[in-house]
Amino acid sequence: MKIDLTGHTAVITGGTSGIGLATANLFLEAGANVAICGRDRPRLEAATQTLPDGPTLAVQCDVLDKKNVADFAAQVTAAFGGVDTLINNAGQARVSNYENTTDEAWREELDLKFFGILNPSKAFQPALEKSDNAAIVCTSSLLARQPEPHLVATAAARAGQLSLAHSMARELAAKNIRVNSILIGVVESAQWSRRYEALPEGKPAYDVWLKQQAEIKGVPLGRFGTPEEAAQALFFLGTPLSSYTTGSTIDLSGGVSRHVG
Ligand code: NDP
Repeated sequence: MKIDLTGHTAVITGGTSGIGLATANLFLEAGANVAICGRDRPRLEAATQTLPDGPTLAVQCDVLDKKNVADFAAQVTAAFGGVDTLINNAGQARVSNYENTTDEAWREELDLKFFGILNPSKAFQPALEKSDNAAIVCTSSLLARQPEPHLVATAAARAGQLSLAHSMARELAAKNIRVNSILIGVVESAQWSRRYEALPEGKPAYDVWLKQQAEIKGVPLGRFGTPEEAAQALFFLGTPLSSYTTGSTIDLSGGVSRHVG
């Protein structure tokens, strides 16, 4: 199936690597205008070099900084005239358990998971309200439904975030803005290569280590997902392909989810 998104504008927060970058690729390949953001300028410039030709805007922006996000929204609407899809993807996980998570770490994690969605969603809402195909999609985690003790704060925050996305879907339906989430298990990305780099000497090769991690986590499909696989789900939920879907989730855990419904 081919979808022509000429004239459609997609905004992807955290679009400089991994899942966000793969999503930017898909939207550009479909003919959309694409705006990405990230905090680090060199990473932003490097990402732009890898994207296919097409109308692209890359803006340095921390999604936790309201002023940054307002400037980003103003630049996108000035460049492309409107916004149809907002992918709230920026973020990372925090490895810590109940005993060793400080109050400050709890606050940082809750801040990232809630305001990482609230700030962009509010800043882009006026533009989304003018679109006939408005969609917000959140990159979330299976941890929201299936917590892991070594990711205690991330899991709790993801559960709250999923609740938030569901409430937003109900409220914004009246404005014709759909809101959905994807729930990721493990997807190969910069998050995982950073964890690998931090391991001491004597570690196996990266691909062998990833395979071992998939085994340890008991992924029924036996491997990590690829950023492209996650991007396809974000693309589906962010375009009219899913025009009758809101307040919903797509599981991308390779079978790790133990939930029936
Ligand atoms: P990457 O580290 O490859 O990508 C994360 C992106 O988010 C980068 O572009 C990063 O750029 C950006 N980012 C992080 N914090 C901010 C911020 N405050 N403001 C703006 N941009 C930010 O990892 P993934 O592709 O894996 O991560 C994408 C999303 O998927 C994240 O929300 C992550 O938590 C979630 N996820 C991933 C899983 C996985 O297994 N990969 C599992 C569950 C959830 P920069 O650092 O330059 O700002």
